[in-house]
Amino acid sequence: MTTRQLSQDIDLQALADRIKAWGRELGFQQVGITDIDLESHERHLEHWLAAGHQGEMDFMAKHGTKRTRPDELVPGTVRVISVRMDYLPPEVETTRVLGEPRKAYVSRYALGRDYHKLMRKRLATLARTIEDEIGPHGYRAFVDSAPVMERALAQKAGLGWFGKNSMLLNPRAGSLFFLGELYTDLPLPVDAPFEEEHCGSCAQCRIACPTGAIVDDKVVDSRRCISYLTIELHGSIPEEYREAMGNRVYGCDDCQLVCPFTRFTRASHEEDFSPRHDLDRADLLRLFAWSEEEFLLKTEGSAIRRIGYERWLRNLAVGLGNAPWSLGVEAALRARLAFPSDLVREHVRWALRRQGEKRQTLIASSAQALSCEPEAIMRRNVSR
Ligand code: SF4
Ligand code: SF4
Repeated sequence: MTTRQLSQDIDLQALADRIKAWGRELGFQQVGITDIDLESHERHLEHWLAAGHQGEMDFMAKHGTKRTRPDELVPGTVRVISVRMDYLPPEVETTRVLGEPRKAYVSRYALGRDYHKLMRKRLATLARTIEDEIGPHGYRAFVDSAPVMERALAQKAGLGWFGKNSMLLNPRAGSLFFLGELYTDLPLPVDAPFEEEHCGSCAQCRIACPTGAIVDDKVVDSRRCISYLTIELHGSIPEEYREAMGNRVYGCDDCQLVCPFTRFTRASHEEDFSPRHDLDRADLLRLFAWSEEEFLLKTEGSAIRRIGYERWLRNLAVGLGNAPWSLGVEAALRARLAFPSDLVREHVRWALRRQGEKRQTLIASSAQALSCEPEAIMRRNVSR
């Protein structure tokens, strides 16, 4: 991107206003503009990395200061246009599915088509619209795909504050939204950062986190976080977290669902975000029965595709281990004992052990109930 000589005639304030209006027409719920000074966020990132909270996500450290200095990533950048798009489809259940252990819980952002494509296309359209108005300008669009501090930039652009769960929170929209950025060489006027923090004494997210991953206010240790364990982690899921994962097989939303601001979430009517293949309420057993071909076919164009079939089965095996005991679950797990992957087999064996323990508990409680019955009948007869 090269810095361009701007025509003296351009009214930058008017242009910024029009960019926001165009952004809203393109389906973004909010658009803000910020400069590129991320110094305080750079320090926060350094501490987080020094503590090892990134786990296997080496890419978080790999790009050095390119992540926190936008002009190092895209030379010539002087402003970032930050956009927000809500994603929760209407009438999609959230907490009810978490309470149904035979069903699979898939993070609500991943139910439909991959959001990257849609968001990038819209950002590109926004950039072209600007071009139509003022002529060529330097820009690059990002959606969660490059070393970009998207939440920090959004906070600086006035879109929300960092909640204690480290998500960006908007007082009128909660946190169930995607963020995207347009790096630009246009010296647009910037918006006021979102300085107020509305969490107050609330700590619902920290209390609700199943694995205790929110180790401090605004600090998530990825190594404990179910989103990381089910999506980013390539190897074996540490046993200490498997039970707490429950039926969460792709991502986790708990720290957002309990947040009081989530009640302000507005439903998204983007067709792309609608659930596909009933992923919002599918049975664990049904998903576990998918062949690799089915997995590839049904996750085409979906964010889920990136974890691959092996990790998909790994996660589902954990979910089935946590499901109530049934002959069907045991049979489905046994059928995967020969699956050609050590990773899958190890998780299947763990799940079978868990199912076996539950079967034993059921047998023991039934036997106890049966042995109590004659005594109860006798007591009833004597008292007559
Ligand atoms: S996504 Fe889930 S596991 Fe991760 S911090 Fe939030 S509640 Fe905890
Ligand atoms: S649950 Fe409470 S503490 Fe956590 S992010 Fe929401 S408001 Fe903040």
